[in-house]
Amino acid sequence: MATISYSCRECGKTVRLQVAQSIAGSELVWHRGYSCENCGAGEEMDDIGVPPDDIRYEIIKTEGLWHLSIHEDGKRRLIAAKEIRAALNLPFSDVKSILRTIPGRLKSGTRAEMEWLKKRLSNKGINVEIFLEHENKNSTIPSFQQQIG
Ligand SMILES: [Zn+2]
Repeated sequence: MATISYSCRECGKTVRLQVAQSIAGSELVWHRGYSCENCGAGEEMDDIGVPPDDIRYEIIKTEGLWHLSIHEDGKRRLIAAKEIRAALNLPFSDVKSILRTIPGRLKSGTRAEMEWLKKRLSNKGINVEIFLEHENKNSTIPSFQQQIG
């Protein structure tokens, strides 16, 4: 959960917009909401997929930048690469470049994003690990579908 400074849609007063990501079943979801202490207005919204980069940036500032490593070699590398490609909606031609990064460190993002990928890969029997790469302060945030390899 991260908070962003935001203007109330009704009265314009500054409010704290709360944003969070989570996993619901097999989907990555995110949430934003606020309630205004000044006028009582509020907003609650949920959406499926990856939030806009400004929201991801705030989540990473709060929760740190996480990364995902795959510990597989042999035939299971291909299973892992195909699952990653499908999860990230990358073109089929990217399977080769994903394969070059396995075994090893594959991808960085928010904790929920990495947990979601881990869950998808674990369901295919892939040995995968996520961990906190660094407490993020000002470094650039990798876009979720950034090219791999
Ligand atoms: Zn208000």
